[in-house]
Amino acid sequence: MQVSIDQDRCCSSGQCVVTAPEVFEQDDHDGLVRLRVTVLPPVRFADVRLASELCPGGAITVTEDASDRDGEQTGPTTV
Ligand code: SF4
Repeated sequence: MQVSIDQDRCCSSGQCVVTAPEVFEQDDHDGLVRLRVTVLPPVRFADVRLASELCPGGAITVTEDASDRDGEQTGPTTV
């Protein structure tokens, strides 16, 4: 899975940070989204998909293929 963000579309609402705080953060000054990681661990894939769905600005793009489902945990996860 790859995730990219478009700060021009980000409206600083913060849902992504609430949904996947290990992956997304907001700039302290303007509130725009930033990625906290360069490589996404499979355990975070579901959270990232949900963050992309919830983003009101459509600022989060997820790209994945079938192999991304390999090794992905299902069910509740702990941090
Ligand atoms: S949910 Fe979308 S609009 Fe809100 S801070 Fe995250 S990227 Fe920006």
